[in-house]
Amino acid sequence: MRVTENLKQIRQQINEACHKVRRNADEVKLIAVTKYVSTKRASEALEAGISNLGENRDDGLLEKWEVLQDKPKWHYIGTLQTRKVKNIIDKVDYIHSLDRLSLAEEINKRADKKVKCLVQVNVSGEESKHGLSREKAISFIESLRPFENISVEGLMTMAPFTNDEQTLRDCFRKLRELRDQVQALQLDFAPCTELSMGMSNDFSVAIEEGATMVRIGTALVGEDG
Ligand SMILES: *Cc1c(COP(=O)(O)O)cnc(C)c1O
Repeated sequence: MRVTENLKQIRQQINEACHKVRRNADEVKLIAVTKYVSTKRASEALEAGISNLGENRDDGLLEKWEVLQDKPKWHYIGTLQTRKVKNIIDKVDYIHSLDRLSLAEEINKRADKKVKCLVQVNVSGEESKHGLSREKAISFIESLRPFENISVEGLMTMAPFTNDEQTLRDCFRKLRELRDQVQALQLDFAPCTELSMGMSNDFSVAIEEGATMVRIGTALVGEDG
């Protein structure tokens, strides 16, 4: 399928989910996750009208960056090794996977301006998933105060791999509640307005529960170029 056709369908699903809960579709940023596809396919996505791309590895991002440069906004969505920070720091607009102090220290050290970060939370508690527990997330965020180059724009999670709607909904709702708690603290370094949640199989539920960024790979650009 061409990206334009997939995009049309996804936009429609986004609109429907927003309509259901009386949200404005402008509140939902669509990130095309291009980690499985070629630079050519990523470029097709930009031509189709996508303006945000997500990558989960530094080499994948750099390869596409060579060609696409700063045409899209770049979202780093994968586990980020501390030693890789310097490779991507001046190329990305958002880092969705801030999950430890050593990573915050490195981002703060390498950046020459404020970096928009999302704190990754492991809501489901699955061992295979990265991110902080809900219990630890707030004190972690508070500990980021000294890092002048880090702005906590929001929270990110990956839902458990299931089609059970209630399980997904609970997960997304818990992230939203946590986001609201952080917002209530009114920390100037952590406006925490964003909720990055929802992928190909669960983005409608995520939007109904308040997602402001959905990260869609397979359903939008497919698995290969
Ligand atoms: C791969 C990936 C996605 C997109 O997954 P799809 O199921 O292909 O839509 C979203 N978020 C993260 C963190 C990913 O690694």
